[in-house]
Amino acid sequence: MTVIYMDNNATTKVAPEVLDAMLPFLGELYGNPSSMHTFGGQVERYIKNSREQIARLLGCDSSEIIFTSGGTESDNAAIKGVLSAVPEKRKIITTRVEHPAVLTTCRELEGQGFGLVELGVDKDGQISLDELKEEVDEDTAVVSIMYANNETGVIFPIDKIVEIVKAKGAVFHTDAVQAVGKIPLDLSKSNIDLLSLSGHKLHGPKGVGVLYVKKGTRISPFIIGGHQERNRRAGTENVAGIVALGKAAELAQKEIDQENTKVRKLRDKLEKAVLKTCTGAMLNGDEANRLPNTANISFEYIEGEAILLLLDQLGICASSGSACTSGSLEPSHVLRAMGVPFTAAHGSVRFSLSRYNTEKEVDFVIEKMPGIVNRLRELSPFVKS
Ligand code: PLP
Repeated sequence: MTVIYMDNNATTKVAPEVLDAMLPFLGELYGNPSSMHTFGGQVERYIKNSREQIARLLGCDSSEIIFTSGGTESDNAAIKGVLSAVPEKRKIITTRVEHPAVLTTCRELEGQGFGLVELGVDKDGQISLDELKEEVDEDTAVVSIMYANNETGVIFPIDKIVEIVKAKGAVFHTDAVQAVGKIPLDLSKSNIDLLSLSGHKLHGPKGVGVLYVKKGTRISPFIIGGHQERNRRAGTENVAGIVALGKAAELAQKEIDQENTKVRKLRDKLEKAVLKTCTGAMLNGDEANRLPNTANISFEYIEGEAILLLLDQLGICASSGSACTSGSLEPSHVLRAMGVPFTAAHGSVRFSLSRYNTEKEVDFVIEKMPGIVNRLRELSPFVKS
């Protein structure tokens, strides 16, 4: 069975060019970049090249790029690194719709005695800038607000948020794991202090990421040990992963217009057709301010997981807003925060596309969805026929 992969916010296919770029570093070029000998030392320039490729994608200086093991580490390093460097301030501000890499980290810190404010969101998944303004104060060490939400694709007004945060002297971190490579970012025109990204969300491999640190930001290293990354992140470099991420960044920069035209067109076609042909279907998230690749749709009175199972039988990969935790089906914390009714939050499905999807694939999903939804509705104990 051929796979129709529409779960790109979970992870992406490694681009063939990226695979080609990384393979030599898993083979003949296995040296340690810190070694004195030529064989190891020659690898260092490839790391330098990758740093420059990523800096070009982000519009920053290559010295502001720190390689990490991925989005989760970058988020932890940003938040904990600021708190440790700015001990006189004790407050953290975030939102209720963050990825667990941020939310769980902040809640753990709250358990250790830091103050934590979790901003709520409206029905579109947007925070209130007025509420943010009220909450940021002189005691606020760090504000961490994602660039774009992984479940709904909702994009936050980061420029306005940064302005509010910087006016109070707090450090601003954004988890841009879902945004980088999908929408253009230009850090040279922004006051963002810290930004996380992850290789496997932009057609690079898993286990490599970046923390961007604006020059002059007060932050302590999260992982300590050796002198790698100019003492900012210890540990022998994941050379193959780093080279791959550089190549993925270069491709992302080239493909960004395609992402915003071809991918958006496919997403819009899929979304429009599903909303029209499937009864009880509704879109989740701010329609106007969304990533071009993401559609999160709720189907009232049916289980998202049941839809996924039937899609899976056809080789279609999507994901659900619910997470099956320890045997109980918990609706998504993001949809709950947006006030999506329980009956719809349980029936949500996220389709997330990439440049590798085709119109033929979209047409196939459009053809199959109404039958799947009707079949499950007939079985639903909540719907009277
Ligand atoms: N932040 C967001 C918004 C994500 O979507 C993800 C992954 O799903 C992460 C952080 C974690 O990134 P990683 O898998 O590289 O640790």
